[in-house]
Amino acid sequence: MPDSQPSAPHHVPIAGVLGWPIAHSRSPRLHGHWLQRYGIDGHYIPIPVMPEHLAEVLRAMPRMGFVGANVTIPHKESVLALADVVTDRAALIGAANTLIFRSDGKIHADNTDGYGFIANIRQHVPGWIPDLGPAAVIGAGGAARAVVASLLESGVTELRIANRTRIRAEQIKAEFGAKVVVYDWAQAGNMLEGAITVVNATSMGMQGKPPLRIPLDALAPGTLVTDLVYTPLMTPFLEEAQARGCEIVDGLGMLLHQAAPGFERWFGHRPEVDDELRRAVLG
Ligand code: NAP
Repeated sequence: MPDSQPSAPHHVPIAGVLGWPIAHSRSPRLHGHWLQRYGIDGHYIPIPVMPEHLAEVLRAMPRMGFVGANVTIPHKESVLALADVVTDRAALIGAANTLIFRSDGKIHADNTDGYGFIANIRQHVPGWIPDLGPAAVIGAGGAARAVVASLLESGVTELRIANRTRIRAEQIKAEFGAKVVVYDWAQAGNMLEGAITVVNATSMGMQGKPPLRIPLDALAPGTLVTDLVYTPLMTPFLEEAQARGCEIVDGLGMLLHQAAPGFERWFGHRPEVDDELRRAVLG
């Protein structure tokens, strides 16, 4: 019998999405499509985790063969305290959506929502020049913070923001600096005057929720208008903006693009975001 060294077992990489509840998540379908399309031997699964179990689950995952994970509601903020390394942008945004379990055992937390937001706009409106005029962001929740960070990083020099609960917008100004101008919620319609980029970052207009009720008369034709809500794809806000001659971009592309950096790190292949993926995710 020849001497043989025990060889390292072959590990099939596993990733997943942690949330509570998680059944609604489109991420398994999204990553599943890419795994199949590129013939990659790997898995991506939904993982329901209650908030009080998050720390315990995260500690066990690398030992179970997980190479990383996405995190969604309600764990996006609390995961920062559990990670060993937090990227600057995740720290600034105050939330992470992508975890990498490094070979040295450390958990690396990043936020790719802002990247996804910008990549989606650039894919659909390649001629968009963010620093040509003010941007207006409606909403000041977790997603709005990623949008604000990415718009400022893209060179926007005046970022207007209005939120029903004004203090949350004031908090964003305090953290992101002097380029941020807070408008009163009652003045949100006026905030659109002269803006070249307008974003709905509230959950208004989502299926089962009332539409965003802000007067859009100040929207100039040609303005880039985008919505983070993607159920439905065509929100009442986007419909009205389109009727006013604006260039509209729906929110699904942001979801697709934010997933790409994680997939590449975990499975070693830079995936494409195209119509085939959109169709697969929409089912
Ligand atoms: P969040 O932290 O809960 O923030 C919700 C935002 O909506 C806040 O600004 C909130 O204002 C506002 N809002 C809620 N109900 C309102 C109402 N009745 N009237 C006026 N404003 C209202 O949620 P989030 O994580 O930022 O997500 C916001 C939306 O973006 C969700 O629909 C989410 O699905 C979507 N999203 C999409 C993507 C994507 O990839 N496309 C990524 C992330 C999030 P207050 O502060 O006053 O409560």
